[in-house]
Amino acid sequence: MLTFERLYSMGHEEVIFFSEPSCGLKAIIAIHDTTLGPALGGTRMWPYATEAEAIEDVLRLSRGMTYKAAVSGLNLGGGKAVIIGDPKKDKSEALFRAYGRFVESLNGRYITAEDVNISVEDIDNVYTETNYVCGIDKAHGGSGNPAPYTALGTFRGMEAGATKIWGSRNISGKIVGIQGAGSVGTELGKLVVEAGGKVLFTEINEDNIKRMKETISSAEFIDPNAFYATNMDIYAPCALGATINDETIGQLKCKLVNGAANNQLKEDKHGFELKERGILYSPDYLINAGGLMNVSIEFEGWNDAKSRRMIDTIYNTTLDIYKISDDQNISVGKAADVLAENRLDAMKKIQTTYLGRGSDHRFPGGKSRNSKI
Ligand code: NAD
Repeated sequence: MLTFERLYSMGHEEVIFFSEPSCGLKAIIAIHDTTLGPALGGTRMWPYATEAEAIEDVLRLSRGMTYKAAVSGLNLGGGKAVIIGDPKKDKSEALFRAYGRFVESLNGRYITAEDVNISVEDIDNVYTETNYVCGIDKAHGGSGNPAPYTALGTFRGMEAGATKIWGSRNISGKIVGIQGAGSVGTELGKLVVEAGGKVLFTEINEDNIKRMKETISSAEFIDPNAFYATNMDIYAPCALGATINDETIGQLKCKLVNGAANNQLKEDKHGFELKERGILYSPDYLINAGGLMNVSIEFEGWNDAKSRRMIDTIYNTTLDIYKISDDQNISVGKAADVLAENRLDAMKKIQTTYLGRGSDHRFPGGKSRNSKI
């Protein structure tokens, strides 16, 4: 159940329920924290069995976005939205336009984008009703497909891991096992091969196996059942979450776990276990933030070079997080949280300075960095 106690404990500012019975819209937007700027996060459409499940998902995902933006150095807060419905049956122009009107009514406190089961066409309908949306088509001045940028960030994380383990960011000659030859996995494979690495991959979808082989002729397919125990220097989870768990952790032969999937550790304890086993882990929500960085600059005019420069910062931030993990003897995942929370706390403190009516974004008509949006 959604209670104020729950919102206090998770730190949410606002949760809004929107309904439009004429088109069957049932949407929930959760704004977690806007210390750093407007809350940005995608909209997910899912046939949740219960409303409680939808609430749980939107609370958890919006909180994750606050941490992701904070650790990535972005001036964005954390938010997320869910639409309760079956994406195969319940989508319509009216539904997404009604949803766009609701987003508009929040006056920029929340900015939406694609997430699971939401296509660029759906987002274009949202965009008809509101400018508070990103991830729109390149034809409308948007940034297009985020996967190559997500892959670039993941690759920068890999280079940071290589620096710490082998003393050089050069991954030439390293064997990289990519789990999931989807949008990000395939792009990551290309970067690995360009850098002189060798790609092994596993996948359960025949079309995607074929596509990976066509894209990278030297890529070697490994059966999913044999994958964890295969010899590799770097394991790159790019399919599902929770693949580092009690069953898999003992099988790993790699020195580095570095992939784009969200929530790779099944439980916090698995972060410590990796450390004890001498396996370095790159913080998932930082190294997969390239897509978020890429859409974040749509409002100032998207530009490929600017996007790539931002994403390059993931290399140094990953090294900073490894250092916090070593200095404080905490897991890398926890160290990423520390970095994000330190930034949020520091920025909360500076906001106590009153700027005068004309320059304070808390007043209508005031100017601030966020008022560009
Ligand atoms: P995708 O759906 O295009 O690719 C995932 C691939 O994993 C699919 O080809 C699927 O068949 C495969 N797969 C599923 N289960 C598998 C299994 N058990 N073994 C091997 N392969 C399996 O998704 P994507 O956009 O490439 O994203 C990959 C991961 O990165 C996801 O976890 C996603 O949440 C995360 N991520 C993606 C982005 C992005 O920009 N697309 C951004 C941040 C995080």
